Amino acid sequence: MADQDSFLYALSSNNAWAGYKAHQNPNFFPKLASGQAPQILWLGCSDSRCPETTILGLQPGDVFVHRNIANIISPTDINTSAVIEYAVAHLKVKHVVLCGHTSCGGAAAALSDSRVGGVLDTWLTPLKAVRQANADELAAISDDKKRTARIAEMNVEAGVKVLMANFTIQDAIRERGLQVHGCLFDISCGKIRDLGFGTKGNSGFVGLGDDVVRGRHAQLVFRGGNASMSVR
Ligand SMILES: [Zn+2]
Repeated sequence: MADQDSFLYALSSNNAWAGYKAHQNPNFFPKLASGQAPQILWLGCSDSRCPETTILGLQPGDVFVHRNIANIISPTDINTSAVIEYAVAHLKVKHVVLCGHTSCGGAAAALSDSRVGGVLDTWLTPLKAVRQANADELAAISDDKKRTARIAEMNVEAGVKVLMANFTIQDAIRERGLQVHGCLFDISCGKIRDLGFGTKGNSGFVGLGDDVVRGRHAQLVFRGGNASMSVR
């Protein structure tokens, strides 16, 4: 890919992918075109290393998505709020997953005393507030990577609190047992860890028993914090 135009390469890759999927399952695209019924709303970081459907081992149609820089959940952000409302009140997803990740550039920027510039410092303000609120704990971590991962966890905890205060989410938890999860994706090993925030007690990621998320072409089973996938 190094000596090719990356966009042209992406288009030819798409063409090959579409041909492969249609060959593998002739009903794949007609079924996708008939509508969506995802069971997971994923709120994550825009980072290119965190493509939710890929890292979950799922398929198009399985995950409704909103991603922004450093997966910041702010109650006044109409973009995030509209996605949550559509996914929860209309698509009636069963799980809301807020997932941060290690080596997050936004988290590292919030830990820095220098400005990024432009609108980015304004966007990162909630994350800087998380840093200020936890200044002592963060300052005591000498390893840069661990400190960045820790503030990413704190950011997820703060975001889950915002989610749990969202009226659409509160109604769905009460009326139909919607589950809210706070997670961290470890880029160095590819695994997602449940941080235990959200609807603890009835969480399929950390609770007793299994929780099955059925995608259109595969299913994920969450058991004791570990996920396994089988193709249907
Ligand atoms: Zn990030």
